[in-house]
Amino acid sequence: MAPTLQRRDRPLILIVEDEPQVRTIIRMNLEDDGYAVAECASGRDALEQVRTLKPDLTILDVMLPGLSGLEVCRQIRSERGQGDLVLMLTALSKEVDIVLGLEVGADDYLTKPFGSKELRARVRALLRRGQVIESEERRIPLSAQAYVDLDQRVVRYAGGEVAMTGKEFDLLVHLARRPGRVFSRQELLNSVWGMDFVGIDRTVDTHVTRVRKKLRLALGNQEVIDTVHGVGYRFRRASGE
Ligand code: CA
Repeated sequence: MAPTLQRRDRPLILIVEDEPQVRTIIRMNLEDDGYAVAECASGRDALEQVRTLKPDLTILDVMLPGLSGLEVCRQIRSERGQGDLVLMLTALSKEVDIVLGLEVGADDYLTKPFGSKELRARVRALLRRGQVIESEERRIPLSAQAYVDLDQRVVRYAGGEVAMTGKEFDLLVHLARRPGRVFSRQELLNSVWGMDFVGIDRTVDTHVTRVRKKLRLALGNQEVIDTVHGVGYRFRRASGE
């Protein structure tokens, strides 16, 4: 049914979109770039295909018949954790919809209508980010001089090391693994604390404050965690990226 056998050689991308024309355009673009592509038209099929094919990236339309793209994304996250990449397609660009998408754990967005160039660039960037995460494994750079040591669970810099509490460290790692990606407070609570806190998000703020304070030792005045007002936090991309 789907071209699954070649996925060891090249990334497999699953397209979930109920409009056949849009699906075809996306598929043709991705195939031109050498990716293996599978497609489906409903949320339920999408969940089944994600489970069986384990795609490297899922391109997910928000407006689907039956199960919405947001619900599909939420289920992918709860079943398969943070490892899977999801690019959401949306006709909605208002901030509230973006926040909703972030809550369910999408990695990036593309607002319809979009051009082929933009689609291809976003896909390339997402897959590259995924590879970087896998290959870096044991250390995450924070600056030219400082990095997170995942084995020892400390931040190291030229002048020594910075110790952190368990949650401070987990929070920093969660943000630093996805530079440029905005995480809502609720999302951080779910991922780092593993609980469905409702309405109490000061925990995240106080931890971010402590992490920033501790990083000042290693990074001087350089700030790496940005506050995104009305949304949450983001690890700053390295300059030049
Ligand atoms: Ca649609």
